[in-house]
Amino acid sequence: MIASCCKTLKQDFKPRKHPLDKPIRFWSEKDNLDGNIVDTYVIILYTRGCSWAYKSGCSMCGYFNDSAWRDIPNEMLIKQFKNALQNYNGEKILKIFTSGSFLDEIEIPRVVRDTILNMIPDEVDRIIVESRPEYIIEETLIDIQEHIDDKDFEIGIGLETSDDIIRNKIINKGFTFKDYRDAIDIIKRFGFRSKTYILIKPPFLTERKSIEDNIKTVYDIHHLTDTISFNPVSIHGRTFVEYLWRNNRYRPPWLWSIIDILVKSKEIVGDIRLQCDIVGGGKIRGAHNCFNCDKTIIQAITNFSLYQDIDVFKELYCSCREIWIEHLELEPLSFGSLPDYP
Ligand code: SF4
Ligand SMILES: [Zn+2]
Repeated sequence: MIASCCKTLKQDFKPRKHPLDKPIRFWSEKDNLDGNIVDTYVIILYTRGCSWAYKSGCSMCGYFNDSAWRDIPNEMLIKQFKNALQNYNGEKILKIFTSGSFLDEIEIPRVVRDTILNMIPDEVDRIIVESRPEYIIEETLIDIQEHIDDKDFEIGIGLETSDDIIRNKIINKGFTFKDYRDAIDIIKRFGFRSKTYILIKPPFLTERKSIEDNIKTVYDIHHLTDTISFNPVSIHGRTFVEYLWRNNRYRPPWLWSIIDILVKSKEIVGDIRLQCDIVGGGKIRGAHNCFNCDKTIIQAITNFSLYQDIDVFKELYCSCREIWIEHLELEPLSFGSLPDYP
């Protein structure tokens, strides 16, 4: 049912115009490399998009809006990478993202992937990509190993939750917890690193249920993965979540919930790295509180992601915290996520 809604919402989608030889974006930021804060270069390639999105796609994902939604010639994909590298300035970490999976050979053909990996500057110590589990197969990892010298290679997987029902019936992710575990096994066998994304507040879950699901997921995976990255839902165009939100059936997560999840997760994971990137934070379509305290709280969450110290949350207070607590108590009576307070 949700799968067909996700498909229908994309039916007359027309991609915006974008030059084929230019990546979507590239920028420099800070990240944590084995306990040190280092410069990181991020490139988002303009590709045909996620193969799963063509079938139906995940209920909260609007990355297809950033894709070409048609094939892109190999030489253009390579040119995009070359163009992005012109601004590279010795960053130690290189993140190569797409609107889907870097290891999907329909999206990034093997010859393109190999050429890109061969072009990575010597100064890069760690390469980070993202992929659905079905593309994390031995044959692909053997090929990658041959092109990265002795650099670290990290693969991010959007598991979202360890609960198969929430993942497949609500998020429409299309793979099981076992598929994820099998992919992690292969990653480990090759000596690569893994990052696991957890979704904060899928549709139909109350704020409290989502917090509980996130904590349980952390508990279920903390012995499997090197880094856990929380993604709070933000409302993207033409998604099932946007449809619910427009009909007052969904509110993006509170920033107070994110702090709660990070503090409780830290107790479970010990030295495993936790991070949280808040897309659209402090805006009506992104994770937010009352809009007065959002900036300070988002800064604290960013600091936590870098330094892993829960003390950054100690002094934070705003009167909207009481509303958040009321929200947690009232939502179970509302049969699902409450909309924003007027
Ligand atoms: S969340 Fe990932 S797997 Fe799902 S549609 Fe988006 S890019 Fe594809
Ligand atoms: Zn507030």
